[in-house]
Amino acid sequence: MSGSEAVTCAVCSRHCRLAPGALGACRARRNAGGEVVPEAYGRVTSLALDPVEKKPLARWRPGGYLVSAGSYGCNLACPFCQNHRISQAGEKDVGWRELPPERLVELTAEAAARDPRVVGIAHTYNEPLVTWEYVRDTALLARERGLATVLVSNGCAEQGVIDQIAPLVDAANIDLKGFSPALYDACGAPPGALDAVRATIERLFDEPSCHLEVTTLVVPGMNDSEDEVEAMATWLTSLGGGRGAESIIYHVTRFFGRWRMAGAAPTPVPVVRRLADVARRHLTHVHVGNC
Ligand code: SF4
Repeated sequence: MSGSEAVTCAVCSRHCRLAPGALGACRARRNAGGEVVPEAYGRVTSLALDPVEKKPLARWRPGGYLVSAGSYGCNLACPFCQNHRISQAGEKDVGWRELPPERLVELTAEAAARDPRVVGIAHTYNEPLVTWEYVRDTALLARERGLATVLVSNGCAEQGVIDQIAPLVDAANIDLKGFSPALYDACGAPPGALDAVRATIERLFDEPSCHLEVTTLVVPGMNDSEDEVEAMATWLTSLGGGRGAESIIYHVTRFFGRWRMAGAAPTPVPVVRRLADVARRHLTHVHVGNC
C-alpha cells in the first residue's frame, strides 16, 4: 500500500475513508503511511482505582477493585454523553500520557500486591474499541499475571474485532442505548449500529469465559418509554435460546444533564424504578443505578 493512498478503517461500520494523514471520525485512528493506525493506543487520559460495582458490574467479583483506564475518542456522539470531555476529544484537546500495556499491567500488579481486592484492569471512560488493539495487548499481558480484563463499551464495532477480543475479556458491560435505529442515529452512530451492538452482546454472551452485563441509561424523551424497555428486555431474554432471562444482568440507570443536554433535568427516580419493573417482567437480575 502506498503512503499516498486513501485507506478504509474496518473497526466499525462507519468505515471511514481516510486520506493520507487524515483522522477518523472517532479521533483515535489515523491513516499513517497508508495504514490505519490506532493513534490513541496507550494514550491514557484518565486512570483511577474503581470498585467493580462502579463499572457497573453487579454480579462479578463483588468487593473487587479495578485499575480503570481511559483514553480519548469515540465512534458515537451521544448528546447526553456523561464523559464527553474525553470521548469527544482528540489528541490536542485533552491531556494524556503514554502508558504502554506493559506499564499498565505492572501498575496493576503492584496495586494488587498492596491490596488483594485489586483484581484487574477496566478499559472504560471513553470508547475502548476504537483502540481495541490496546485492550487486546494489555489483556494478554494481564492474563499472564493473573489479572482480569473488563470492557465497558458501546459495543459498536465490527464482528472481526469482537471475535478477537471476546476470549480475552473476563467481564463486560455493554451499553444498549435503546432499541430503535433512530435513537442510535440521534447518537451520531455509524450505519447499522443497533445491529452491531446486538451482535456484540450476543457474541459476548456466548463467550464461556466472559461475564456479561448490559446497561441502558434512561434519557427523558429519548428512550424512556415502557415499550422500548419491554422490547430490550424481551430480546435480552431470548439470548442463548432463552438463557438470557436468568443469565443477563441488566442495569437501568438514571441520566443527569451533560454535554449537549447539560440543561436537561435528571431522569425522575420513579421513572427509572418503573422501567426497571418493566424489565423485571422478563429478566431475573435487574438493577437500578444513579438513583
Ligand atoms: S473506528 Fe470507526 S469511527 Fe474510528 S476511524 Fe475506524 S471506522 Fe472511523
